[in-house]
Amino acid sequence: MSTLANFTKTLIISFVLTLVYLFLPSDLVVLGQILKYSILISIIIALMSYKSVIQSVESGISNINSPKRKKDGKYEFEVVLDEKKTTKDLFQRLIILTIKVASSINKHSHSAIYTIDPKINSFVLQGGKKDEFKESISIENGELLNFVLKSRKIHQKDNKDLWNSLFSENSWKGSESAIINPVKIHGKDLGFILCRIDHFKNISDKDLSSFKNLSEFFSYNLQNLDDLDYHINQEASKDLILDIISGLNSKTDEQNIFDQFRYFFRTTFNYDRLTISIRKETNNRRKIDKAINSIVKLTDGIKDELDQETEFPTNGTLHGLPIISGKSISSSNWQESFPNIVRYSSKQKSNAVYKTILGSPILVGNQAKGSIVLERLDEVMYAKKEVKNLEKVGRILGSSLEWVNEYNKIYENATHDGLSGLLNHQTFKERFNDEIKRAERFQHKMSIMIFDLDKFKNINDTLGHQYGDYIIQTCSKIMKDNVRAVDVVARYGGEEFAIILINTSVIMSNIVAQRIVDTIANYPFKMDNIKAKMTISGGMSEYPSDSKDMKELIEIADQAMYSSKQEGGNKFSIHSNIEKSG
Ligand code: GH3
Ligand code: MG
Ligand code: MG
Repeated sequence: MSTLANFTKTLIISFVLTLVYLFLPSDLVVLGQILKYSILISIIIALMSYKSVIQSVESGISNINSPKRKKDGKYEFEVVLDEKKTTKDLFQRLIILTIKVASSINKHSHSAIYTIDPKINSFVLQGGKKDEFKESISIENGELLNFVLKSRKIHQKDNKDLWNSLFSENSWKGSESAIINPVKIHGKDLGFILCRIDHFKNISDKDLSSFKNLSEFFSYNLQNLDDLDYHINQEASKDLILDIISGLNSKTDEQNIFDQFRYFFRTTFNYDRLTISIRKETNNRRKIDKAINSIVKLTDGIKDELDQETEFPTNGTLHGLPIISGKSISSSNWQESFPNIVRYSSKQKSNAVYKTILGSPILVGNQAKGSIVLERLDEVMYAKKEVKNLEKVGRILGSSLEWVNEYNKIYENATHDGLSGLLNHQTFKERFNDEIKRAERFQHKMSIMIFDLDKFKNINDTLGHQYGDYIIQTCSKIMKDNVRAVDVVARYGGEEFAIILINTSVIMSNIVAQRIVDTIANYPFKMDNIKAKMTISGGMSEYPSDSKDMKELIEIADQAMYSSKQEGGNKFSIHSNIEKSG
């Protein structure tokens, strides 16, 4: 277990990094689509119900070794992957997901995943198109092994023999390249991810590292499935947790997770009072073990002063103890067992009402992020099995929280523009579609505005790109500040912006638009002591009077914007007005 725990810890760290790297979007459009496939849900579904897959892998894991060269020069595997026990469906989900992510990293890529089947001394195609990839690749080929067990890039032209052992007959142009990255489980080689790109020029260094991260991501998930499987073995709990987790989406936040666990606790444990707390995050790493506060996130049972959102010191308190120690605590008389600590505050005497306590840390890897504390009025010690169960739940809760945080980070990254913080182009279109449906249902009007900075190129040319960025950021903020929270503001292109004002009359929209134009024109831009002026031009169309079609509405607003430009810029035009006057 200790190697497993250590490995998991390492992998969790690498996983966080992996995701951050992997999803630093080079192609937000595709990435946005990928998110639709709901990375989290698929993985966790696989994660939580992966038992059989892992069992099959597990039977081999203890035996998996890197291939050894026998005396006769052949390679030998001690891996035993029992096909029969493999829940193909779940394994496939992870594979499909991984291949989708690969195509989002590089849209010119075609990817496949191979795993070792020692019975036929081959790597077998697990995911990827059969007409593009070989169904099995012999492991007799020593050169191949040198490549597949490391991260490598190969060129068709330079590695013809190897190429032919990897890919079926084809009329290769010579410009093709492939990237190979190993898949490992418990540090042992299990197979590889193979990505082919038709022209070597279509691979960037960033892609190379993303593909490497992807194989670590895949390996990490195999590993994590195994780890979680190790920690939950009650089928009923699994189902319940699976339900909770499969319901996660972009709108799920931490509090949702806690709330959903409430029912689970009620049905699984006996307590008079349940308290779940989370250690408050601090940016200062060194402070983490000092007297940082924790905050109550969920309570159930008897109501007392330790209510939801109450903050208390993590150090020196009963509720902070599982966090500080990273271990479970169990006692039928906690005041006797821990005479030097208070329940959560030295000022509250009434807390002596509880006698029995069971507390476990909420673990992410080996780090305690919070505590789950069960309290009873009577002196009835919790059974060993209950302690074990609460520990498991602490891990599951920790994983769930981690996944939600990761998911939200990925989501934020993929839906928002990094420079301005506004919605990106693709997400704007998705939101626009949603808003059209909503407006149709409620018979609302909407105003659609397109803005474009005037002669912005001059700024870049005279004051530099950074200054240009500063202006884009500042104007983004001005736009955001001049609309309501329900309105949609997006960076539509380089120095173009799009705004949807929900359920707003033309007169009101015109006021808002004019305010944006004027605020930007009057804004004293200043960076590094260099002052500048900027103006913006805009145009507006209206739903449903101008059109009911998204594309048309944008085009019409765009035309109105151009007529503002033609009239010298620093101006706002409404499509219907142009029509009337023209
Ligand atoms: P017009 O008044 O006709 O709109 O002229 P313009 O110069 O604003 O328009 P043009 O489309 O010719 O140039 C837009 C420039 O915006 C070109 C591009 O280099 C710059 N740009 C696009 N995105 C960014 C960015 O993220 N940062 C910076 N600094 N410049 C950007
Ligand atoms: Mg412009
Ligand atoms: Mg432009």
